[in-house]
Amino acid sequence: MATNRTFTMIKPDATQENHIGGILSMIEEGGFRIVSLKKVLLTPERAGQFYEVHKERPFYQDLVKYMSSGPIVAAILEKDNAVADFRTLIGATNPAQAAEGTIRKKYAKSIEANAVHGSDSDENAQIEGNFFFTADEQF
Ligand code: ATP
Ligand code: MG
Repeated sequence: MATNRTFTMIKPDATQENHIGGILSMIEEGGFRIVSLKKVLLTPERAGQFYEVHKERPFYQDLVKYMSSGPIVAAILEKDNAVADFRTLIGATNPAQAAEGTIRKKYAKSIEANAVHGSDSDENAQIEGNFFFTADEQF
């Protein structure tokens, strides 16, 4: 089922450097409505579960360590064409390749510490949103 929602996390590098407000501003100015929002410290187990799809990638262990190194901000966002438009707003995974005006261009420090996560499909947006928020928290 296609939806007009996506899921994001503001990653530990960005929360530690006090960029939560700046990033949420760019999200709202980009036309997204914040449906759900919370700040969470992930355990390594829970970070590993979230990134399970990357289990076989060489950077998986580092990614899990990094994503549990400090609090993240999880959010469900709403907009027409949310998944694709949000990927455009955040920019390329590697900030060196991220376009001007994107969140990663402005805030990301490296290919790993790249400030934000964005879902890559409607299906994953729903799975990831449900990973953090119960049904009564998604309004
Ligand atoms: P995300 O899923 O976080 O939105 P993405 O879809 O742009 O990012 P993925 O390929 O799904 O990129 O990788 C997930 C995350 O793993 C990246 O955001 C980054 O934090 C980390 N990562 C990806 N590639 C590398 C790499 N080559 N070296 C280190 N970390 C990496
Ligand atoms: Mg991804």
